[in-house]
Amino acid sequence: MEKVIIIRYAEIHLKGKNRGWFERVFSVNIEKSLKGIKHEVHRQSGRYLIENFKEDETEKILGRLKKVFGIHSYSVGLKVSSDMNEIFAAAKTVSFTEGTFKVETHRADKTFALNSMQISAEIGGRLLSENKKLKVDVHEPKFIVNVDVRENGTALVFNEFFKGAGGMPVGTSGKGMLLISGGIDSPVAGHMIAKRGMNIECIHFHSYPYTNMQAREKVIELTKILSAYNCGLRLNIISVTHIQEEIHKKCNGEYMVTLLRRFMMRIAERLALSRGAQCIITGESLAQVASQTVEGMTSSNSVIEKLPVLRPLCGFDKNEIIERSRAIGTYETSIEPYEDCCTVFLPKHPVTRPVLSAVEEEESKLNVQALVDEAIKSLEVINI
Ligand code: ATP
Ligand code: MG
Repeated sequence: MEKVIIIRYAEIHLKGKNRGWFERVFSVNIEKSLKGIKHEVHRQSGRYLIENFKEDETEKILGRLKKVFGIHSYSVGLKVSSDMNEIFAAAKTVSFTEGTFKVETHRADKTFALNSMQISAEIGGRLLSENKKLKVDVHEPKFIVNVDVRENGTALVFNEFFKGAGGMPVGTSGKGMLLISGGIDSPVAGHMIAKRGMNIECIHFHSYPYTNMQAREKVIELTKILSAYNCGLRLNIISVTHIQEEIHKKCNGEYMVTLLRRFMMRIAERLALSRGAQCIITGESLAQVASQTVEGMTSSNSVIEKLPVLRPLCGFDKNEIIERSRAIGTYETSIEPYEDCCTVFLPKHPVTRPVLSAVEEEESKLNVQALVDEAIKSLEVINI
C-alpha cells in the first residue's frame, strides 16, 4: 500500500489535437512546482500520480500543487494492486471510524472480474461487517470511499476530492508582459492572466531616489508570490526618474501621470517585443481612480504600436479585487505603505479626461525617443 497524490486536469481535455503538448507543459509545470521536494510524477490515462514522496512532506506538496493552473482536482489516496483484499485494506485505511458512507467505484480495467457495482457492494459490505459504527447512506453520506481500478493492475483508493486552481497550464497561452506596481491591482491582474495559461513576465518602474528601496523590495516580494503560480518569473526593473524630472520641468504638471503612463507603455512594449511577449497586461480598472478613465486609457493606449493591452480587472469593483488579492496571498504585501512612482511630483489636480491632442502637445516638449532609450539602459533583470 503506497501513499499517492492523484491529480486530475482541468480544461486540458478540451484541446483535442494539441493534447499531447498540453500534457507535456502541464507535467513540466508540476515538476517545477515541486522543485526541491523528493517525489516522482507518473502519467496515467487522464491523471497524474505523485509517488515516492516522504509522508511528512505531503502537506508541503499539496501547498505547492494548489497553485498549479490546469489542476481540476486532487486527492490524497493509496495505491494498491487491483486485488479485492488489498482494495479492502486500503478502503479501511481511508474510512472514518464512524458515520455514514458509500463506496463509489470507477473501473477503467474492463477485464477486472467484478463490475463497478459489485466492487462497491463487496467493499461496502466488508466495511460494514468489520465496523458496527458505520452505516451506508447513498444520498448524504458523511464520507465516500472512492475506488478507481486502473488498467495497469493497480487500484487507487481515496476519500476526498480537493478543488485545484483550475485554469490552463501556464505556457499554453503564450507570454505576456505585466506592468506591476506595488499596489493591490496589478498582481491580481497577472494572476488572472496566468490562470488562462499565459506565461507572465513583469516590468516595474521606479523613480529612485524619489521612491525608496523598500518600495522595490515590496515589488520583488509580490513577484515572488506571483511566481509560484507562474512556475518562475522574470522581473524587469526600470528607472523613470529622469523622465519624471523632464516632465516636471517642461510640461504642464497636470499631465504628469498621463504622460508617465505613455512612457511606461512605450517601454513595456519595446521590452515585451524583445522578449517574445505577445501582449501587455495592466491592473487598470475602469473609473477606479482619476487616471483610469476611458480617455486616460485612450491616451496611454495610443502609443502602443503592435501589441494588444489586456486589462482583466476592467469590470471589477475594488472590493472584488481585494477579495482576490487576499485569496492569492498578495494583499498583505500590497498594502505596505511604500510609494509608487506615480505619486512622485503628483499635481493637485491631475487631468482626468485627457484630450489626446492636448496630451500630444504637452509631450512634444520632450525628446521622447531619447528618454525611452535612456530608460531602457537602466534595465535590471531579476530572475525570481
Ligand atoms: P495597482 O494597484 O496595480 O497599483 P492602481 O489602482 O494603483 O493599480 P494605478 O496606480 O493608476 O492604479 O496604475 C494602473 C496600472 O498601471 C497598474 O495596475 C499597473 O499595471 C500600471 N503601473 C502603475 N504604476 C506602475 C509602476 N510603477 N510600474 C509598473 N506598472 C505600473
Ligand atoms: Mg498603483
